Amino acid sequence: MKFKAPVTKNEEYEVDIIDLTYQGLGVAKIEDYPLFIEDTLPGEKALIKVIKVNQNFGFAKLEKLLTKSPDRVENIDKNYTRTGIAPLQHLKYDAQLEFKQHQIQELFDKSKMDVEVLPTIGMDNPTHYRNKAQIPVRSINGKLQTGFFRKHSHDLVTIEDFYIQDPEIDKAIVVVRDILRKYHIEPYNETKHNGVIRNIMVRRGHYTNEMMIGLITRTKKIPMVDIIVREIKEALPEVTSIMQNINLSDGNGLLGKSTVCLDGKKYIEDKLLGLKFAISLNSFYQVNPEQTEKLYSLAIEKAQLDGTQTVIDAYCGIGTISLAVAEHAKKVYGVEIVKEAIEDAKINAQKNHINNTTFVTGSAEEQMEKWQAQGLKPDVIMVDPPRKGLASSFIDSAAQVAPKKIVYVSCNPSTLVRDARRLAEYGYEITQPVQPVDQFPQTVHVESVTVFEKK
Ligand code: SAH
Repeated sequence: MKFKAPVTKNEEYEVDIIDLTYQGLGVAKIEDYPLFIEDTLPGEKALIKVIKVNQNFGFAKLEKLLTKSPDRVENIDKNYTRTGIAPLQHLKYDAQLEFKQHQIQELFDKSKMDVEVLPTIGMDNPTHYRNKAQIPVRSINGKLQTGFFRKHSHDLVTIEDFYIQDPEIDKAIVVVRDILRKYHIEPYNETKHNGVIRNIMVRRGHYTNEMMIGLITRTKKIPMVDIIVREIKEALPEVTSIMQNINLSDGNGLLGKSTVCLDGKKYIEDKLLGLKFAISLNSFYQVNPEQTEKLYSLAIEKAQLDGTQTVIDAYCGIGTISLAVAEHAKKVYGVEIVKEAIEDAKINAQKNHINNTTFVTGSAEEQMEKWQAQGLKPDVIMVDPPRKGLASSFIDSAAQVAPKKIVYVSCNPSTLVRDARRLAEYGYEITQPVQPVDQFPQTVHVESVTVFEKK
């Protein structure tokens, strides 16, 4: 029998919004058939129009709000929702923090794990916090423009105030855009795969105010490069590094293989918890400095170090956690897959006169196996993996070396819960409430710290 959805495309319906998905979409049900609707909140009544009908669920767009949630923020700029820059901007900040706490709680509950999740630690001023931007450059009606892609598309929406970025970064993007316009630099064309400039990247040190401008190009050469570099430096005195990354591919990946320094240093410096860090163009560095200090302080406090322990920091990036932990530990080992990040980590150890750290380039899962084979016995393992969470082979080797504690910094609650179940099979239990820290206000991303201890 062919399935028939209880709704029809392009028809309007009056619905009650009953839930909010982890992607920030409101949920309504018509005869048990779920519809997902942007810019709607639980408790609201809405007139909606169905735009897509799938087998088991559909999408609709908001035509008119009939009743409003007390948690709604009015007068928002819809471009931040359309582009996905700030998918939660229509939800009051306190409610955003609760939404994130509940999301983790629900996943633990569903997986029948008895775990408490604390209220999310938020920011006092939850906008304009990002220390890094990577902005697409495209041509619209023959004019070079910067902005952000509309969600699920490559239509550029022109934007100057990005709402969640450091305003100095926003200003720098406009300055660079105008210089590129002045010298008639061709924006990348994704259909024809020609043009020169694909993206502008900007990083700015929160404490140092050092700025890096990265020009991501489709070509090896940038016409008029010397004068462009000179004008950028003249217009933006904070700039201490101008880099070019060459991305020859036809695909959507941001960075290509080769990076060259056009002017100044190959990295900028910033500080975290009083330590200095060198940050290269392609190294990972937490984007919300104020919240990162809270996050790391918590992770370190939860590791309960007294200077006698051996610690592994897996997925260590440029060594931020490793170096912050080093003064509380006997020895710290860091592993990270990006070679440049490990080079930064080694420079960072020197810069801070820290000599009880060892950094290795490699995949955390393979390196953990090597450390296990070498008989390394860490007291604590700290992990801060990307969204896909820990490889199961990593968990196997980590459990074999039997640390007393595993401190898990997670940016994805669903892989955190999955990994928690695997760790439980090895006798590692969550011994303290999970602490969410809001690293990404106005967005749906959820960061948290969890402590596992061997029974
Ligand atoms: N702890 C660091 C970095 C966390 S982000 C900080 O807070 O700044 C996660 C890091 O894991 C990134 O630097 C990424 O390059 C790295 N990574 C991704 N997959 C990896 C793997 N399989 N093994 C080791 N590192 C990996």
